[in-house]
Amino acid sequence: MKKKTYYSNKLSIRSTTFISTVILIIFILVASNKITHPQLYITVQPLNGCLNTTSLSCKNTISSSVVTPFSPNQELNGRERFLSAIARKLTIIPQPGTFEYILLRAYGAAFVNPDTEIKLPQKDIFANEQETQEFQDTLIMGQVDGTKDCYLQKSAADALNKARLLQNIPLKSGYGSGDCTRTFATNLRFWHKYANNQMLERVQQGKETKILGLVAPPGTSQHLWGLAIDLRVSNQQQKQALNQNGWFQTVENDIPHWTYVGLREENLPQFGLKNQVVRGTTYWVTPLQLLDVMQSREYSIRRYIVRE
Ligand SMILES: [Zn+2]
Repeated sequence: MKKKTYYSNKLSIRSTTFISTVILIIFILVASNKITHPQLYITVQPLNGCLNTTSLSCKNTISSSVVTPFSPNQELNGRERFLSAIARKLTIIPQPGTFEYILLRAYGAAFVNPDTEIKLPQKDIFANEQETQEFQDTLIMGQVDGTKDCYLQKSAADALNKARLLQNIPLKSGYGSGDCTRTFATNLRFWHKYANNQMLERVQQGKETKILGLVAPPGTSQHLWGLAIDLRVSNQQQKQALNQNGWFQTVENDIPHWTYVGLREENLPQFGLKNQVVRGTTYWVTPLQLLDVMQSREYSIRRYIVRE
């Protein structure tokens, strides 16, 4: 009886030891996972921020644990990545086959700007001076250094001023406001310098696109958004200084025209923008196809897809 108790005790000690060891192993595994997980979180999170946004937003990401920088799902194709990015700024996404879609294809690169300080209009065409003015009244503007009356949205002006500290980059016309943020009337005046109403009709029907690289139809210029400037850029160092500060050529064939995209060059493809070299000039254009425009002829039936 005594012997039996002894064996039974010995057995229970062994099983207790075994269970304790298992618990200890589980504890170590859980504990080590808890240690490595936050380490991963801390290092990966700011890195994503720096990769996907401007250096300014990157700093914000590190200091704030709440705001997660947006990056399109890289499993989507270029067109889908672009559309998912612009949906954050453009509440109404134009449908293929519409004039608004043609404009988005030509001038829409500015809509991928991730900077929350940057404002873009709800749609890519203003009907008149009043609509333009109402939008411009909501903007926080900044002056381009060394100019009398050249204004851009503040983040865009700040970035341009940084580039112009690195290199001497003159405005196309010297220092006039016509190179910077324009009124509806100025946009209209420029259009009539190069084109007429018949041309506008052809553009609206997708039959003519080249003119869009020369002059913007009334109410559609990136200059109305305070995110574009016309510059006299003659060398690679000037281009580099602009690119490093989020400024790119985004309108094909419009050589003096620069757009504030607010991204690093290596991140532009993530947002669906395509690198297009035309006669030695690199443009970052939208991935929207003219074919999308030509195939769809359902004008005025359903002009927009409204984002949920
Ligand atoms: Zn321009």
